[in-house]
Amino acid sequence: MTEINQMNCKCSNKDNCSSHNNEQFKIKSSLNSFNPFTSRVIDLGKGQFIGGGHFQAIAGPCSIEGNHIFELAATLKACGVSILRGGAFKPRTCPDSFQGLGKEGLELLVQAGHDNDMLTISEIMSERDIDLYHDIDILQVGARNCQNYSLLKELGKTNKPVLLKRGMATTIDELISCARYITQAGNDRVILCERGIRTFEPKTRNTFDVSSIAALHNGCDFPIVADPSHATGLSNLVAPCTLAAVACGADGIQVEVHEDPQSAMSDKDQALTPNEFKNLMHDVESMHAFLTQ
Ligand code: PEP
Ligand code: MN
Repeated sequence: MTEINQMNCKCSNKDNCSSHNNEQFKIKSSLNSFNPFTSRVIDLGKGQFIGGGHFQAIAGPCSIEGNHIFELAATLKACGVSILRGGAFKPRTCPDSFQGLGKEGLELLVQAGHDNDMLTISEIMSERDIDLYHDIDILQVGARNCQNYSLLKELGKTNKPVLLKRGMATTIDELISCARYITQAGNDRVILCERGIRTFEPKTRNTFDVSSIAALHNGCDFPIVADPSHATGLSNLVAPCTLAAVACGADGIQVEVHEDPQSAMSDKDQALTPNEFKNLMHDVESMHAFLTQ
């Protein structure tokens, strides 16, 4: 997302940054009182940042299934993705479902990230596994562990950025409090993620609370990532909801992509094909350019 990063750069390096110009952060007159590009800038490593105008796209399969991750990573990199996602320790509702490749999955992800010069992110479910994530760049806390305070405290003692997903019944204020468990333990590199909440509506997997993105920007300075894949559960809703999230000021998106969604071992109904994702990235860039023109 180099193009977008430069367009919105709000770094402190004013002198060397041609795009550092506050005028660019004015969106439209109706939105003058809402400036989404005010979150803290988080250094993700390897020259990548998120927040404060730095936008990131995170993409990859729900689960790492084997060597497919190598070709998929290269394809996503070509689409402008700098952060490769993939689950290895999977929190599945049913114990009979595929549970992920575990340590082997993490090793495949690290190798695919390395081969394509991408950062990696994967969900960690237990503090007992922290050592296994030594070579993973960003630790993801899933919705089911959002309020697992002992896990959050332990991740606060690590030196890795943490992407904290909103629990399916976690309020906005509770989510901010969860993030503070990590920062109070010493780690201020926290990114929040809106991934939908559970409501009475069965048509979608969850209800995508797009308003939380704007509300979180008003309530804290953590960068906000939107995950329209888990929020909707349906691949044909991912693109419109992604664009809505960008319009609401998301600092990044996380999207599940699979080379053959129907054969995916988890979350097959919400995965985009690489081609669908490529088109979405084009629209995201256009939307972002429009908002910051
Ligand atoms: C995931 O990202 O693969 C995942 C399980 O997401 P969530 O925790 O939002 O359900
Ligand atoms: Mn998934």
